[in-house]
Amino acid sequence: MQTRIELIDLNFLGYPLAIAGYLLDDGEESALVEVGPASTITNLLNHVQALGVPMERIRHLIVTHIHLDHAGALGSLLQRLPEATAYVHPIGAPHLIDPSRLLSSAGRLYGEMMERLWGEVLPVPAERLRVVHDGERLSVAGHTLLVVETPGHARHHHAYLDEASGTLFAGDVAGVRMPGTTYVRPPTPPPELDIEAWQASLSKLRSLPIRRLALTHFGIFEDVGRHLDELEARLLSWAEFTRPLVEQGVPDTELMSALSEYGNAEMRQLGVDPSSYDLGAGYELIALGYARYWRKKLGLR
Ligand SMILES: [Zn+2]
Repeated sequence: MQTRIELIDLNFLGYPLAIAGYLLDDGEESALVEVGPASTITNLLNHVQALGVPMERIRHLIVTHIHLDHAGALGSLLQRLPEATAYVHPIGAPHLIDPSRLLSSAGRLYGEMMERLWGEVLPVPAERLRVVHDGERLSVAGHTLLVVETPGHARHHHAYLDEASGTLFAGDVAGVRMPGTTYVRPPTPPPELDIEAWQASLSKLRSLPIRRLALTHFGIFEDVGRHLDELEARLLSWAEFTRPLVEQGVPDTELMSALSEYGNAEMRQLGVDPSSYDLGAGYELIALGYARYWRKKLGLR
């Protein structure tokens, strides 16, 4: 039985290298790991077809976490794929069944951009949802995926390790990195950024037999140890950079421009185009995430 893993570029807002999904297939059934937002469903299904996979073969829709760029398409996809089941973290499940809180919190961040960015987010019927837990193994499409609880970026985050190939479908816990570069940017949105939990998740990943990281933003990288070390170092150095600014009470907009200046200088030194990272993890959410983290941790208002 021939099994394969294919990267699908969802071409978010018409941009390549922003959001990826992964197709797992064994010739009899298929699974998607990460389904992207509802706004890219047509791109997703066209790409699956172009890979020679009839869409009815897709039986498993697995998401690393419920943020709209990773899971927003689930409700619509389940309508189109009556045989498919969605897989999610226990904390994420209620917010897929009733997305009203997810949508109102995203609405506060994205305002009138919501529809254009994310499309129409439909609820996921509870009976189509399978809640999965840390340490479970899922047998899907000829692959065995180990569920790895990995909080930090969000509490409702899992990564999935394909044990045969050593491929970790990392979601956002392993950061954002563009193909052809070494630079790793930490995506640190509010409200759940938890740096200590994220560090513990990275330690956990280092203990697993991971041979390649399949990132949602964007692509597959094989220098696993170096990549994770760089992510952790930057997560912490940006925390140190933002702390005094938050303590001084600088407005969020100022924090954002200070951090983007700092981060972009790091990237230019390496000859990396900073804007290529902004669709995967923009400085606005990164700054808001650190601001909220520090205010909570330091007891500031
Ligand atoms: Zn996310």
